Amino acid sequence: MVGAVMATSAAAPAGRLFLITGPSGVGKGTLVAALLQRHPQIWLSISATTRAPRSGEVDAQHYFFLSREGFDATVAAGGLLEWAEFAGNAYGTPRQPVEQHLAEGRPVLLEIELEGARQVRRSFPAGFQIFVKPPSFEELERRIRGRGTDSEEAIARRLERARVELEAEAEFDAVLVNADLDQALLELEQLMGLGG
Ligand code: 5GP
Repeated sequence: MVGAVMATSAAAPAGRLFLITGPSGVGKGTLVAALLQRHPQIWLSISATTRAPRSGEVDAQHYFFLSREGFDATVAAGGLLEWAEFAGNAYGTPRQPVEQHLAEGRPVLLEIELEGARQVRRSFPAGFQIFVKPPSFEELERRIRGRGTDSEEAIARRLERARVELEAEAEFDAVLVNADLDQALLELEQLMGLGG
C-alpha cells in the first residue's frame, strides 16, 4: 500500500485499469463524477445491476438495469468481468467495453464494491486499486441516511456491509480519506498520475 504523498506525477498511462472502491455512502460517485469532468479522457465503466433505478437514474447511463433473469443470463454467457451480490442485489461489470477501451489505449475506471475489486485484482493484477474511506463510521452513517433514497432495511444492510469493507483497506494500492471533496479529488488525481 502507498499513501497519496508517494504517488508519482507522471502522465496517466494510457490503457491502464483503475478501480475505486469503498463503503456505500463514502462519496465515491461524487468523487468520480468530479474526476471525469476534469479528465474526460478517462472512460468510466457502466455496471449492470438488478437494483431498481433511484429517482433520476437513467438506464444505460447510470447503470444497465436488468431483471434477475437478464443478469443471470449475462453471467452465464461470460459477459461480466466480475460480479457480486450487494445489499440484496447483483452488480457486475460488462466485460466487452472494458476490454475494448483498454485495447484502444484509454484509461479505464471501475467504481465497484469489495468482492468485485478482489475479482478484478485477480484478472488485472497490474490495475491500480484505490480504497476510499470516510473520516469516521458515524459520518458514513450520516451520509447514507442523508441520501434519503434507501429504506431502513436497505440502510441497515449497507451499514453492516460497510463495517466489513472498512476492514479491507490494507489490500489496496492506496487509501484515500474522503473528508473534503476538493482535497480528496486532488489526492485522487495525484494517485492516478493526473498532476494537479
Ligand atoms: P448503489 O446501489 O449505491 O448504486 O451501489 C451499491 C454498491 O455496488 C456500491 O458500493 C457500488 O460501488 C457497487 N457497484 C456498482 N457497480 C458495481 C459492479 O459492476 N460490480 C460490483 N462488484 N459492484 C458494483
